[in-house]
Amino acid sequence: MLKTIPLQHQRSWQDCLTDLVTDPMELLNMLDLDPDQLDLSLDVLREFPLRLPRTFIQRMQRGNPNDPLLLQVLPQQSELLDSPGFVSDPLAEREFNPMPGILHKYAGRVLLLPTSSCAIHCRYCFRRHFPYAENRPDKKQWLQSLQYIRSDPSLTEVILSGGDPLLISDKHLEWLLEHLAAMPHIKRIRIHTRMPVVIPQRISQKLCDLFTRYPLRFIVVMHINHAQELDDEVKAACDRLKEANVDLLNQSVLLKNINDDPRTLIALSERLFACGIMPYYLHMLDKVKGSSHFDVDLQIAKSLMSRLRAELPGYLVPRLVREEAASANKTPLF
Ligand SMILES: *Cc1c(COP(=O)(O)O)cnc(C)c1O
Ligand code: SF4
Repeated sequence: MLKTIPLQHQRSWQDCLTDLVTDPMELLNMLDLDPDQLDLSLDVLREFPLRLPRTFIQRMQRGNPNDPLLLQVLPQQSELLDSPGFVSDPLAEREFNPMPGILHKYAGRVLLLPTSSCAIHCRYCFRRHFPYAENRPDKKQWLQSLQYIRSDPSLTEVILSGGDPLLISDKHLEWLLEHLAAMPHIKRIRIHTRMPVVIPQRISQKLCDLFTRYPLRFIVVMHINHAQELDDEVKAACDRLKEANVDLLNQSVLLKNINDDPRTLIALSERLFACGIMPYYLHMLDKVKGSSHFDVDLQIAKSLMSRLRAELPGYLVPRLVREEAASANKTPLF
């Protein structure tokens, strides 16, 4: 018999966040899965623990050990493989970290990292070895970051990234936006977040009101890898953002056994568009240590792109890119 998971949508996002699933056994129980159906590892949790909102688990298929959402978050033995070319800081981000909380690598755009935490831990994350302890932000650090942005008039866009910037409170976000809105050279605020997908309650009316208050353009770039992540609650969150005049884009990571086939990628683009989100980037995996089991060969990636080109309208085809440590932009591959 299938167990039902209690409905989450009446709970506040803060409640969802204090009630994450962190025990793999609880997760397997909820999904009616047996540990020997999986390549489970508990050892890898010491470095990068399980963090998983129940709202996201609700969208997984019970009894399916190959569920595409489960595979994104499942701690696996394969993470222990030492694969050549997979290193702990593949993007050499530490070099572009002029001060804690700021990443400035591309012209005109700067990453402000208001928090280093995420609501979900994606096993392929390139930040899994990032020195987060040195990047534990507080108001003093935010003030330094703001000063950095204020003193560089070549910047036109601030990208709130992280971690997940929507983990900070509305009050703190408002404080940051007040400061950014007072800088005449800043025209756009981009928010790189998984929160609308993993805890859609985060997109409250109060948050959306913030986005309409300033003479700034807001862009929310989501991170969605599979159409199954986009249920009606996520769509409702997207509708609220659209109503606040926020532009919605998506970036996906090309992940082996999760979305590396044409039907899945086509369904993803179609579903994104139905939710008002435009496909933006399809990233080749960053070669971070412990993620080689997600890696898709470049030739396969290119042939997938040919299929998307042939079968989708051009505006639904994401750009296949790779991020290279030395490059001042993402490298187009197709
Ligand atoms: C991806 C990224 C950006 C944004 O790049 P776009 O091509 O404008 O989306 C900016 N800075 C860094 C360090 C990035 O990795
Ligand atoms: S939400 Fe983004 S930053 Fe956070 S763990 Fe997942 S991929 Fe990494």
